[in-house]
Amino acid sequence: MKTTNAAAQRKLKPADPVEKARAHKIYSLLAREYPDAKAALNFNTPFELLVATILSAQCTDARVNMVTPGLFRKYPSPESFASAVQAELEPDIKSTGFYRQKAKSLLSCSRSLVEKFGGQVPKTMEELLTLGGVGRKTANVLLGNAFGIPGIAVDTHVGRLAQRLGLSKDEDPTKIEFALMELFPKDHWTQLCHLFMSHGRKVCVSRLPKCEVCCVSHLCPSAFKFSKSGDLKKKKGK
Ligand code: SF4
Repeated sequence: MKTTNAAAQRKLKPADPVEKARAHKIYSLLAREYPDAKAALNFNTPFELLVATILSAQCTDARVNMVTPGLFRKYPSPESFASAVQAELEPDIKSTGFYRQKAKSLLSCSRSLVEKFGGQVPKTMEELLTLGGVGRKTANVLLGNAFGIPGIAVDTHVGRLAQRLGLSKDEDPTKIEFALMELFPKDHWTQLCHLFMSHGRKVCVSRLPKCEVCCVSHLCPSAFKFSKSGDLKKKKGK
């Protein structure tokens, strides 16, 4: 999702201290539970992470990791992607799904990189957002994992966890990103995403969360409120 000017210019508001303390406890417990949590996409350079992140939309990181080694052998640089032919690129990434749109994004992104940034991935949110196929989520993945600049990348797991844990009431990823930025200290932002992704894959899964084995269930307003079909149970009388 592309950012709006309003989102880019928005200032962080001070969060409720009680909520901040609860957020801190959640972070500490998840950090203890997943001490090795880290980016699941394989990459050697910022450009490889950029390509892998674009391919990871609506696709598992494991699948992307199967596709990228061959892809980077065939197209080892932004210049080689920029001069690729879309019809030739599509079969190489087909197994990651949505391959036409992803091929288009890879070509447009690589061409902007070559034309505007000399083939180097830029290091600011503003510049990253000028690249084709790059929204705030991808930009934050790049900032946090390739450049060590804190960022909160709201993917499906991070969004789901933020909502179930009552850290954000919004569905819009940009609003969730800002709510989390207000609750957690900057030096936790990138790792918070890895922790939420790990927990979202293993315990707080999309269909039916495993609240009975969740290390933060005592801090979670949604704990044990899901029916067997995976829906939130309705309160009696409603
Ligand atoms: S208690 Fe249940 S809903 Fe809440 S974070 Fe844990 S698994 Fe998810």
